[in-house]
Amino acid sequence: MRNEQQRPDGDADRAGAPLRLSVFGATGSIGTSTLDLVARNPDRFEIDTLTANSSAAALAEAAQRVGARHAVVADPAAYADLAAALSGTGITTAAGEGAIVEAAMRPVDMMVAAIVGAAGLRPTLAAAGQGTTIALANKECLVCGGDLFMAAARTGGATLLPVDSEHSAIFQVFERQNFDQIEKLTLTASGGPFRTRSLAEMALVTPEAALRHPNWSMGARISIDSATMMNKGFEIIEAHHLFALADERLDVLVHPQSVIHGMVHYRDGSVLAQLGAPDMRAPISHCLAWPRRMETPCERLDLAALGSLTFEAPDLARFPALGLARAAMARGTAATAALNAADEVLVAAFLARRIGFLDISALAERVLDRLSGQGALQAPASVEDVLAIDARARRVAGELGAAKGP
Ligand code: NDP
Repeated sequence: MRNEQQRPDGDADRAGAPLRLSVFGATGSIGTSTLDLVARNPDRFEIDTLTANSSAAALAEAAQRVGARHAVVADPAAYADLAAALSGTGITTAAGEGAIVEAAMRPVDMMVAAIVGAAGLRPTLAAAGQGTTIALANKECLVCGGDLFMAAARTGGATLLPVDSEHSAIFQVFERQNFDQIEKLTLTASGGPFRTRSLAEMALVTPEAALRHPNWSMGARISIDSATMMNKGFEIIEAHHLFALADERLDVLVHPQSVIHGMVHYRDGSVLAQLGAPDMRAPISHCLAWPRRMETPCERLDLAALGSLTFEAPDLARFPALGLARAAMARGTAATAALNAADEVLVAAFLARRIGFLDISALAERVLDRLSGQGALQAPASVEDVLAIDARARRVAGELGAAKGP
């Protein structure tokens, strides 16, 4: 977000030409919300590439619907289905992690980075390195890539536009010219489905209950991360990198209605906030139209009907993931990358009913302790170093998860 010279605004800079867009993770929750906005505004956008992991049928259908030029699956086993579904359409196809990275280097005006997990790092880094404007949903780029990712974006001249609703909110009320007048940022958190549950109750919750977020409809991993509040921990790390503020200036406030998404507190005592109904199409549209705005079908806020907004401090004892993420951030990018990798493995283990809900944070902490004890959390110098830490953390998390059992 610090490189403001490149403005991807079709109306202002490109004489009304459509915005050439690629959507990585097109079959997911953010990807389909993005394509919904594209379908509602067909004249504004031209779709270059869509990608998925293995959902070949959904990807092929979306590619035809929006007139994409190129479609790529990461999983080579899904290639035959994709190629068959798009045969004769003129849409080119490819498969494999390398093909996803290559697709990220195709020239476009904007990439929507909406792959889930550390798998998003390489392609987004490739796009950032060559100066593509990025609508960044994949927070793992910052949690795992940290300073490396920000440096690549800076060197490449890339503009980063946050998709995460909290960061989008802050971005919208963040006065760059008054950076030295900013006291702190507040990221709001709904508190997830277990906001009022006791630890004893949380020990017994099922994946189905954890997936039922009260306000947002999202992919499986981020839904579980919202229930543990690991997601909010990752968002603190994301905010640290995006807005260049230290940990102690990044607050979390539980706000169950998810109407205020983020706030910036200034030294004169003013607090600027962004509000809106909880619908990811709003922050996505903010990226797609930036620096202008576009019409969306999002529900309009009716504050009188809502009546009241409530707030509470996060409970660090019931949601230890928040403290864990801050501690990892203090240790540096190796630790935050390891925390993300451990969490990916442990969330999958919870969804498969191999471990309990509270084990996710408890075992993630043990992964970090073990790697730290082994001296494995040295600052990464390259993306290969990050991926080596990621692989090591996954191995340890897998072992600890298997040893724990259901
Ligand atoms: P989903 O699980 O709904 O979708 C993930 C997408 O990534 C799918 O297209 C999936 O393809 C693809 N994918 C999965 N694994 C790989 C892989 N190894 N290589 C390439 N592509 C892969 O996720 P969400 O849309 O919920 O989240 C996407 C990102 O956005 C995450 O980083 C999340 O933290 C962030 N985010 C999401 C929000 C939300 O409301 N959902 C809000 C804010 C941020 P396939 O369908 O084939 O599996």
